[in-house]
Amino acid sequence: MSKQEIENDAQCADPHIVVIGSLDHMTDTKVVIDYEGTSGPDLITVTRTDFDPNSGSIGVALSDGLRAYAFTRAICPTCNNTNTQGDGAPRFTTIEVTNEDGTVTRNKTACATCDGKGTLKVLPNPQSITDPDHIDTVDSLQQGTYGADVPMASMSRAGGMSGALDDWNANITHQTASFVNQKGEFVECGDVVQHFNTDYACEDNNYLGVLVGRTKGSTYTSVQHGPKIQPYLDAARAAGLPHNVYGTNRGRDAILDIGIGDSRNPQEISDNINRLMGRAPDTDGNFPSNPMQDIADSGTGRRGSVINFGLQVKHSFDGAFTVNIIMERLICTNGMVSTSARSMVSISHKGDTMARVDDKKLAAAVMAMFSDTWDEMRMVDKMNDIPILGADVDRVLALLCNQKIAGFRYPGLSNIKQRDGSDYQMSGGKKFRNFLDGMENPNRAWVRVGDDFADKRNTLNHVLNVLTGLETHNPAARDGMGGLIMGSTPKPTTHASKQEGLQAFHRVCRAIQNSAIEDYKNSGSDLSLPDYIAENGIPMLMEVDRAEAATVSGGKTHQFTWAEGSILPTIEVVSADLNRDVLRSRVLTTQYVAVA
Ligand SMILES: [Zn+2]
Repeated sequence: MSKQEIENDAQCADPHIVVIGSLDHMTDTKVVIDYEGTSGPDLITVTRTDFDPNSGSIGVALSDGLRAYAFTRAICPTCNNTNTQGDGAPRFTTIEVTNEDGTVTRNKTACATCDGKGTLKVLPNPQSITDPDHIDTVDSLQQGTYGADVPMASMSRAGGMSGALDDWNANITHQTASFVNQKGEFVECGDVVQHFNTDYACEDNNYLGVLVGRTKGSTYTSVQHGPKIQPYLDAARAAGLPHNVYGTNRGRDAILDIGIGDSRNPQEISDNINRLMGRAPDTDGNFPSNPMQDIADSGTGRRGSVINFGLQVKHSFDGAFTVNIIMERLICTNGMVSTSARSMVSISHKGDTMARVDDKKLAAAVMAMFSDTWDEMRMVDKMNDIPILGADVDRVLALLCNQKIAGFRYPGLSNIKQRDGSDYQMSGGKKFRNFLDGMENPNRAWVRVGDDFADKRNTLNHVLNVLTGLETHNPAARDGMGGLIMGSTPKPTTHASKQEGLQAFHRVCRAIQNSAIEDYKNSGSDLSLPDYIAENGIPMLMEVDRAEAATVSGGKTHQFTWAEGSILPTIEVVSADLNRDVLRSRVLTTQYVAVA
């Protein structure tokens, strides 16, 4: 469809009704707007689903504190779209007339205002909007094009329980819980606090509004959404980033989504983070950059899937203030997306904790944390540019075992000769063998650098995936005779005790990466980073090669010996006396293949 055709379509459609006013009150399905019509103040009721989807049922905030609401139709104020006889006329009135011959004729009369339709496309008391400050907004609302040029990630507008949106900064009142006794008096009932959203105040709820969140003890300090969300909203506006702020769950939660960019344009993301942090670009319009990142960028330029990045700031009357990094990945061509969140900040309402937080300082800290996390995520992505092949796999393994990182140990040698009489089997060293398994079989569920992640295979990213996978999944390993060293059921675990191991693996992989990048940077080489590494190796890994022969005790009956220039040791079973005679031995190699 050409641009012209789209415009014609838009012109053919009925223009939206637009009124400027304020919220009278709302319900789960309807919004009542207070506005100034040409013949005086009036109220108009609109079903939530009839609002323009771009401006939404909470309307568009105007600079003077009023709101502009756009909708396709309003409920007829005369009959209120019902047939019950209320204040106004019913939608249809049936008058029965008994004729002289005794027959009955029914005369059906429709509501004069809406002709029995129940809804109106033209208001009986329309508004004349002439304020020049409002004209542009009103025009685009009437044409249904408001906000259409600002694409928002689908992470935005995630509705609440009902899917209905509320004003993010709704007026939430709190009062001590009470009930009405038989005399019609309010009686306070204990040391508890309840919150009400007065946007919902109407006759049905004694003008209290709707109850928000759970009833709280008196130690709960009520904190309005405004001061919690505003510093982030100010930062997003100042940085000119697409954002969306809204309330859900009848005002219980206020949510601010800030779009930062997508992974196709890392420079844009980096610049946007700088803007969010309130940093100014230099005279050429460039922000200060991270030199390590620049070097990492000179790799192959291979890219993973497109990921949208953003921040989601949420404050809830039910007890918490959270900031999450949202990563949204398109998972198939029909536009389905998967969203994952990485928690950065979570503060719960306990005592006056929330009230004591300096929101501006916290906002600055969050921006800085996001910047660090983003840099870190990018560096991990750039691990794809560090090849880990052949002897470097041995070196990584030796490094982990020599330093006993997160419990890595060399296997021992058992007393049992293998069934074919060829050798003694290895015992223990489960992580050692799992590591090899994961490097040789990238399609293992706990590794996941198989065909879908081909860029990662045989790279430092593959190494990190293997290490992370064996820590979180604890896969089983086969011993030398085909027996199974039990692991837990291979399913992800998120136990806090795993965190230490995960951090240790992350640290060691980043150290290897930094070593490679620094060496490359100092060399001034014209080669790409992966080509340079393939030719020159990685300094930190090459240091693993033994400069001279060595022996390290592995306990009463075991020791490990290294020949000069070797990477992995020979496992030796020794006599349990001072002589430590070598009874049998086996050269440890990563060429070990489990017996099926
Ligand atoms: Zn009517």
